[in-house]
Amino acid sequence: MTTTSDTTRYARIAVERGIDRYPDGLLYRIPIALDGVKGIGGVALGDHVTVPLGRSNSRVNGVVVGIGGDELLDKKFAVDQVKSILEIDRTSDPMPSVVVRLAQWIASYYCAPIGVTIAGITPSAVRKGVGRIQKIAVDIATPPESATTKVGRLHPKRQAVLDAVALLPQSQRPVDIDELRAACSLGTRAPILALIKSGHLHVTHRTSVQAKWRASTIEEARAPEPTSDQSKMIESVGEALNLGFSQHLLFGVTGSGKTEVYLRLAARVLAAGRSVLYLVPEISLTPQTGGRIVARLPNDRMAILHSGLTAAQRHEQWIVASHTGPKIVIGARSAVFAPIADGELGLIIVDEEHDQSYKQDQAPRYHGRDVAIRRAQLSACPIILGSATPSLESWFNAKKRGISQLHQLPNRAPGLTTPRVEIVDFRKETVLRRDRRVHLVGPTLEVALRQGFAAGGQAIILLNRRGYANWIACPDQNCGWMMQCSHCEAGMVVHHDVGDGKTLKFTRCHHCHAEQKVPSRCPRCAKAVTIFGLGTQRVEEELERLFPDLAARGGIARVDSDSMTQASDFHETLGRFARGEIRLLLGTQMIAKGLDFPNVQVVGVISADTALNLPDFRASERTFQLVSQVSGRCGRSAQAGRAIIQTFQPDAEPILAAARQDFPGFAQRELEVRERYGLPPVHRLARVIIRHEQQSEAERIAEQVRGKLAGIPAAKSVIIRDPAPCPIARIADRWRFQIEILAQTPAKLQELLAAGRTLAILTPGEIMAVDVDPVALL
Ligand SMILES: [Zn+2]
Ligand SMILES: [Zn+2]
Repeated sequence: MTTTSDTTRYARIAVERGIDRYPDGLLYRIPIALDGVKGIGGVALGDHVTVPLGRSNSRVNGVVVGIGGDELLDKKFAVDQVKSILEIDRTSDPMPSVVVRLAQWIASYYCAPIGVTIAGITPSAVRKGVGRIQKIAVDIATPPESATTKVGRLHPKRQAVLDAVALLPQSQRPVDIDELRAACSLGTRAPILALIKSGHLHVTHRTSVQAKWRASTIEEARAPEPTSDQSKMIESVGEALNLGFSQHLLFGVTGSGKTEVYLRLAARVLAAGRSVLYLVPEISLTPQTGGRIVARLPNDRMAILHSGLTAAQRHEQWIVASHTGPKIVIGARSAVFAPIADGELGLIIVDEEHDQSYKQDQAPRYHGRDVAIRRAQLSACPIILGSATPSLESWFNAKKRGISQLHQLPNRAPGLTTPRVEIVDFRKETVLRRDRRVHLVGPTLEVALRQGFAAGGQAIILLNRRGYANWIACPDQNCGWMMQCSHCEAGMVVHHDVGDGKTLKFTRCHHCHAEQKVPSRCPRCAKAVTIFGLGTQRVEEELERLFPDLAARGGIARVDSDSMTQASDFHETLGRFARGEIRLLLGTQMIAKGLDFPNVQVVGVISADTALNLPDFRASERTFQLVSQVSGRCGRSAQAGRAIIQTFQPDAEPILAAARQDFPGFAQRELEVRERYGLPPVHRLARVIIRHEQQSEAERIAEQVRGKLAGIPAAKSVIIRDPAPCPIARIADRWRFQIEILAQTPAKLQELLAAGRTLAILTPGEIMAVDVDPVALL
């Protein structure tokens, strides 16, 4: 069977295997049977298909990322070697073509395999059909269906079920077996299933949609009157709606009412018959914020995608997002791929655009904000990036490069007060203590907390470090032993797990999660070890000692990834804080973002130094963001709020600037530093990381890769640094070396990366990781 080549059509397929020699996908022939009439009705871009792969021709799933004629043929292959697509999967909705184009851009820009990229776009629940719930409905079988039915007495429980069904009016039949189970007060489905087996009940399978995600606290939906600043912003972005792509940065201090601006613009877009994509950092998508949005916008045209959903709910929300007609899709990073149909999107909002969680830390290492900008360009719609502490990338784009319009909300919304930020020199605080203990909560913060509680207020305490203490060392300086993870070049962290009235003490590595006992003696010189440093568990212990009555009533709660293993734990704790059952919330950066509780009068930062001392050029920016964001959690009512910032470096510029709430000043100075050292956002950075069990081998490969990259012509317009050990030189038994590539423009960087990939120098996988525009450098 031969077809002339001018009628044969081909498709490029992204298969889930990490074969990255073909960044555009693998080439397959479209068989005539699947080609429709003149290509219409046949295989289309975004279709899910099954193709044969490898020598054994095993059947694998893939997505169509390109369609065409002979121009797709790779000269290296004989035409008759091209295999054919086996079938189209019509049970899954095709990926909108704008999402396919987005995936191709990610694969190319972030040096990621297209198959892995495409596979990561669709939630696994949707991909595997896990979310497709089959509900079983039953009715009385007349006559009984099975020959096994015996005339005679049924078990009384089963007879009762049968009677209950018989009593139902016709309109309520067939009845869902879970409803029937509940109506008959049965503990299990077993009696019903037995009746099905015996042929007394007749089954009709019904695929159903799971109950909608519901916000637990739906607040009053009355919209506040926008302030004049808000109105100005709404009008100026409002004018850009329907006019194609435009990029806006909304810089509004904490509590200035950015959400109000988003909601009003979203309502306009929906009223005009188009859809809105609304991205938030994972952790800010609490029932509280979700509830506020749900209460203000049409509930039946909303999809919410977040990690707290069950697989079934996730699938259901994904289906809602794919429905035609105006709707709003709210979600974390991966919601940027929501299956909103081509041409339907009217606005994209990225709230808290500076948040690090928008960057994915495994392949494809994309930045959700930047992908959102790309999606807005492809969809020809405006995008709003909003923050009280914009990333320097976005600030630079607005202030220096002029590719983004800057809008400002410089004042807090009416009814809110500006928090008073006090910097406390922790070196002076500790010496005030008479007992010989090291106190993490200094006297200034302690007094502020006592006054706040006495006035009926609530408090938030931040420490950006989990565990109990992060140093286990020999007290003898001549010995110098310090406990390290045996798999990583990193210290072990002491953890206390409280349960059943007992405290289990152990050490854990925060990089590979290995655990060990806490040693009592130094393994080198047998002296008793010293445990010091800080962690949220230790602060919790101290707060319980300072406020025993509060602790006894369950009024203190700790929020970090150790105590909150599921999103629902976090949501439940925030619910108790909102109801006032918890008075003091302590935690890591999980609590620094977006929380809006009017009764919070005191905010404390145990140590503003934790972020400041990281070996990362963004340390200052992170510190500024953290201090500003957490301070913004108080003063969200007429009650004045106090933010107490403890630090060993009270003169550090980012801390002082955050206390003054001077973002523009901070940004200007910081951008000068970045420019001087050729760092982002003024210049562009990519990191190539080589990982290997043998240190010498990791170093050798890194040298080799560097040498090959330097030989590419495009290398002349970039700086390729020599390989160096990563700040954490070994993680999970693999040594890590990095090559930093710096370029003056994104185009120059991309030129080098593309050439490196084409020449098979850059081959991301087990040994190599490529991180373009990295946000963390450890
Ligand atoms: Zn480790
Ligand atoms: Zn020792």
